[in-house]
Order: sequence, then C-alpha cells, then structure tokens
Amino acid sequence: MEPRKKLINSVDSCVDEALCGLVRASGGLSLLKGHRVVLRSDLENLRGKVALLSGGGSGHEPAHGGYVGAGMLSAAVAGGVFASPPPASILAAILSLHAAGASGVLLIVKNYTGDRLNFGLAAEQARNHGVAVDMVIVAEDCAFDQPSKAGRRGLCGTIFVHKLAGALAEEGSSLDQIVCKVTEVLKGIGSLGVSLSPCSAPGCRPSFDLPPGDMELGLGIHGEPGIKRSKVASADEVVKTVIDHMTDPDSQSQLLLKPGDAVVVCVNNLGALSCLEVAVVTKAAIACLEGRGVVVARVMSGSFMTALEMAGVSLTLMTANQETLRLFDAKTSAPAWPNLSSVCVSGRNYVTEPQAASARPQDDAHSEGPLSPVMRGALEMVCSTLLEKREELNALDRAAGDGDCGNTHAAAAKAIQEWLRDHVVPGDPGQLLSVLAGLVQEKMGGSSGALYSLFLTAAAGHVTEAQSNAAAWASAMHAGTQAMRRYGGAEPGDRTMLDALCPAVDELLKVTTAPPGGQMAVLQAAVRKAASGAEATRDLAARAGRASYIAAERVTLPDPGAVAVAAILRAVLESLEKQT
Ligand code: ADP
Ligand code: MG
Repeated sequence: MEPRKKLINSVDSCVDEALCGLVRASGGLSLLKGHRVVLRSDLENLRGKVALLSGGGSGHEPAHGGYVGAGMLSAAVAGGVFASPPPASILAAILSLHAAGASGVLLIVKNYTGDRLNFGLAAEQARNHGVAVDMVIVAEDCAFDQPSKAGRRGLCGTIFVHKLAGALAEEGSSLDQIVCKVTEVLKGIGSLGVSLSPCSAPGCRPSFDLPPGDMELGLGIHGEPGIKRSKVASADEVVKTVIDHMTDPDSQSQLLLKPGDAVVVCVNNLGALSCLEVAVVTKAAIACLEGRGVVVARVMSGSFMTALEMAGVSLTLMTANQETLRLFDAKTSAPAWPNLSSVCVSGRNYVTEPQAASARPQDDAHSEGPLSPVMRGALEMVCSTLLEKREELNALDRAAGDGDCGNTHAAAAKAIQEWLRDHVVPGDPGQLLSVLAGLVQEKMGGSSGALYSLFLTAAAGHVTEAQSNAAAWASAMHAGTQAMRRYGGAEPGDRTMLDALCPAVDELLKVTTAPPGGQMAVLQAAVRKAASGAEATRDLAARAGRASYIAAERVTLPDPGAVAVAAILRAVLESLEKQT
C-alpha cells in the first residue's frame, strides 16, 4: 500500500514548515532560532512570573504551539511527528524563559516515557543552571481498566492544565501554588477517544488497519490502536459508550462523576472528522451528561489535540468548581484557544421564539370590491393554462434544466386554485398580489418560486384599490421585473423568463400615452411581444439559472420560464377580453 496523500512539501521539512506557518500567522508568537520552540514574543511580560513550558511530538496540531500566549503557555517545544523533542531544545526553551526574568519554570508533560525522560533530563540540567523548575505529568486517559506500569496516557486533558496553570501564572501565583492546584485538578480530568480510521505519519502507511464498518475505542493520539473494536454506531450511542466507559466504577482509571457535579467538556476532533460530525457529537455529549444529572458548565468543541488525520473524536471531562471555572474563563491570547462564553451551558435557554410572522395580510381583513370578479376570472384562466402546459414546460426544462419547470408552475397553479376556492378575492389588487407572493413562495419551489415571489412582492406596493388603473398595473409589472433582475442577476438576453417579461413590460408602459379606449390594444401588443420574446430564446445561450451550465449548442428549444410567462400574459388577456 502507498503512503497516504499529504499536502506537504517534503516529509523532512513538514514539521518546521508547520511551526513556521503557525508563528508567522500569529502576531504574538516567535520561533527560537535553531530549535523547534515556539515562544511568546512578549517575553518581557514574564518578568517575576512563573513561565509554563509544554510540548511533545508533532502531529497533534494545534497542540502545543497554538497554546502559547498570555494566560497559557510561555513556550512549546516540538519533536518530530509523534516523536519526543530533544532535551537540548527543551533546555534551550527553559533557559530563554529564565533569561526573560521568569521566577520559575513549570514543565507540563504528557505521560509518555520519551517525554518524561527528555523533559526530566532538561529539568535536571536547568536546575544545574540555577533555574527553579518543576514538572507536572498529565495522565488522564480512561481507556485501561488496569493501567500498566507506564500508567495512563496524557491526552487532550493536557490543554485544561495549560489553561488553568496559565491563568494562575498570569495572576502571579508561585510555582508551588500552581503545582499544588494543578495536581488537585488533574484528579478530576478524564479523556477517552474513539475513531473510525487510523492515521498515518507523513511518508508512512496507516498506523493500523480498520475494516470499513468498524470503529476503535480508547485509542491514543499517536496512531496506536485502541482497546476495543466494534461496529460503527450512531453518534448518540458512541457518546454513551465513551462516557459509560470513562465513568465505569470497575475501572482503575475511572473518572468519578456524580449527579449534581459540574463539568467542563472538551469535544476534540482527532483530525479528520467533519465539523458537522463534531457538532453532532457535541450535542450528544451535552445531552448524555445532562441525562445523568451532571451540570455541563462549559463546552469547547473543535480540533485541539489531534492525531494527524485520524477520523475520530475524544471527549475530555473535567469536574469543576467556581475556582476552576474562573481560571478556565480567564482571558488568553493563545491562538488555538476558542473564544468561549462564560455562561453555564446547562440551564441556559438556547431557543428564541420567532416573531409571529404576519407577512401575509389577514385573510379575514380582505373585503371584495368591483375588481374582485375580474381578477378572479384572470387567475382562474392563468391556473388552468399552467396546468395544461405542465408537460410541455417540463419537456422544455428537460432539454436544458432539471425537467421540473412545468411541475413548479403547476404547483403554483394548484395552490392558487385551492386558495380561490375558500377565500374572497380582495378588491385591493396590492393585497391580492401579496397573498399570491406568499402562496408562490411557499408552494411553487424551484428558482421560479423565488423569482415570482419577488416579482409579486415588489409589484404589490404599486397597485391599490384607489390606484388600479392600467398605468398603475404597468408600473407594478415594471417594479416586479426590476426586482427579479436585481436579485436574480439576469438580464434580457440571458435566456430566462425575462426575455418574455421585459419586452412585454416595455410595451405595457406605453399605456400612459395610449389614446382613450386604447388600453386593450396595448395589452394585446404586450402579449405578442412576450410570445415573440419567448420564441427568440431558442437562439440564446443561457447565462443564468441551471441552463447556463449546459453547452449552448445543445439547447435549441425555447426557455421554459419564458414560455410560461408568455402563456400567463396570454391567459390574462383572454380572460379580460371575455369579461368585457
Ligand atoms: P429550477 O431552475 O430551480 O429548476 P424552474 O425549473 O422552476 O426552476 O424554473 C426555471 C426557469 O427559471 C428558467 O427557465 C428561467 O426562465 C428562469 N430563471 C432561472 N434563473 C433566472 C434568473 N436569474 N432570472 C430570471 N429567470 C430565471
Ligand atoms: Mg427546473
């Protein structure tokens, strides 16, 4: 099997380039020359305070360099991918912090043999240089019922330690005070991961095989397999399994969690889960914990301690009191720490009631007028015409679109017919157009639905019961067409319904100068313009709508939307001719 595809320049340079990318993009970070060490660029602010140093292998981005900043780490040391950093670089980092005037240096180390050894060696050397150094080991993995001699692994819970210790250091706590506090907090932190895939170090093959339908529970963050393999289940079930396992009273690495306890939750993408999946898991985690009577105080959700591109998630829980929450909420400038609210997650009302939508004027407020029968007659004719043309329009849309243009128009026609059956047609044409806009928006679908709804909504303001002469109707049609152009982005000539509508509206606008009694002649001319405009779309290349994705030479039939517009206008004309 080939190594997995990776978007890097070279296997050898990727770690250094990634560190450089992080530092160059973050105004508050710098690189220690000759070492894979990310430092706060404002080291002068460490004077008299405890400095925090963490680190470990690369491949866990944004850990650890992303947690360097005021209120979190003072520096982070990176090793190669999944490899512990060399003691010389750790020492160089410690000495830089010491030289900046730090009163002491706390090393925050994940419990892996290599890290313990290298950080331990550097700590001893630093002491010989007269630096006050101490070390806390993070070992919060809940995977193993009976952890081996090596103990529990350090996982994503490490970033809680970075955060709390960072807040304490910023406040001016002493090295001893920080170590004491952090050691206490660590007892209440637990993590467990689950993954749908392995990961692979650059240039290497995947770290383990996982059959397509399987997932792995309790894995580490270095591509090592987990403790249990099972069939992939739903997010809710997986979250329940993870939390059950973490809090299993028969396990030596259980996290004690009682109803009424408050927790901070970290939902950590192990690298390749989609943000959508992480959000689903987050919802499930909150619900599962609340279902056990636990108070979810804070939630952070995202990629915090990854294992390259492992498609999995880990949950970290930290039991929290007021003091822990205060430290957790304290400000930090570290680029990878999320911008969280300090409002308790559980118990917060997170649903906003929508405003009662009264977009459509109350039906019962409508009263009939002299125009009502005329408009009803015209609408009935439009609807029956569109229903007759359903197949023709679908066929035209099949040639260049998705074949549903007849269906969208038929849906609108049916909705209008239904509405006509049990409503009076208001004598105010503006009210009628608003009702139609609402019906079409709800029932028509497709681009046509939105376009017609825009047209009708914009037109509605231009005709009223008092102002319903031919000129008012023409200006309403004009306003509707302009709205369609503005929001739809198409122009006449783009092979859309505008090619029928625009020439017709231009003709209608001539009513203002028509001789008395000449209005019907104007409407007849407009209908002819619409028909010829629709017919002419045969020769146009589509530049809007779905049809624009199809090669011009393949479209030799007229545009269905334009044909529909011409048919609608003709139906209105025929109805008016019959009624007068
Ligand atoms: P959909 O394209 O979503 O399937 P329909 O099939 O109901 O929608 O309608 C397609 C018609 O919509 C096209 O024939 C064209 O006349 C019209 N149309 C598409 N885009 C635009 C636009 N931007 N402006 C005006 N009319 C458009
Ligand atoms: Mg269509």
